Amino acid sequence: MKNFMKILALALVAVMAVACFAACNEKTDGKVYKIASDNAFAPFEYLDPETNTYVGVDMDIMAAIAEDQGFKYEMANVGFDAALGQVQAGQADGVIAGMTIKPEREEIFDFSNGYFEDGQIMVVAANSDIDSLEDLAGKVVATKAGTMGLEFAEANKEKYGYTTTMFEGSVEMYQAVAQGSCVACFEDRAVIGTAIKNGEVDLKTVGEVINPAPYGFAVNKGQNPELIEMFNKGLENIKANGKYDEILAKYGM
Ligand code: GLN
Repeated sequence: MKNFMKILALALVAVMAVACFAACNEKTDGKVYKIASDNAFAPFEYLDPETNTYVGVDMDIMAAIAEDQGFKYEMANVGFDAALGQVQAGQADGVIAGMTIKPEREEIFDFSNGYFEDGQIMVVAANSDIDSLEDLAGKVVATKAGTMGLEFAEANKEKYGYTTTMFEGSVEMYQAVAQGSCVACFEDRAVIGTAIKNGEVDLKTVGEVINPAPYGFAVNKGQNPELIEMFNKGLENIKANGKYDEILAKYGM
């Protein structure tokens, strides 16, 4: 009987040790991270009408990395500018939204390693004869809140003599150009390329890609450093195991 109790006690200790080891090893303490994203930026994030869920390269990369690294998250597709605002306000832990890594943003955010590279390109109506920045003189250019395209348009408006009108999302910005209230906009090349390829917009691109740079996952500066670490490790793993290539191929990238 004494022996039996001894064995029982030892077994109990062993079970508890294993349980503790698992719990202590759980990197995220059961935390559910809040991640914010754009809502109309195919192929990176867009609403799939068939499933009524947000899909895309960013959505799949986030899911694959969270699975690889064993953390939980909730995704909120609130729009680009809103997503950046939520992270800055501490309402979201991270943002993945086809977000370009650039020095000014690195003062506010901490970025992961780059996971894709793209720049902006000028977009005009399919039947437009505008084919350079010089042709924009006296005209109105559509911009999207918080973006690289907005920054480029604003930085060049005096030089080329045009004015700007800002929209919240890519869809509204495209509509303004297609309907003629604006003559051009600047959009990420892969994104406008996808919209044109899918026949969603009667637009065309003009000229070369501007400022190509990597996209990164971001957190508020100095916060959730473990999330950046896990994103980078997970990204490395899904690149090594073929999942990353699979995701890009799935969305025609
Ligand atoms: N890559 C661009 C930027 O970072 C656009 C991102 C977006 O509109 N989702 O500003």
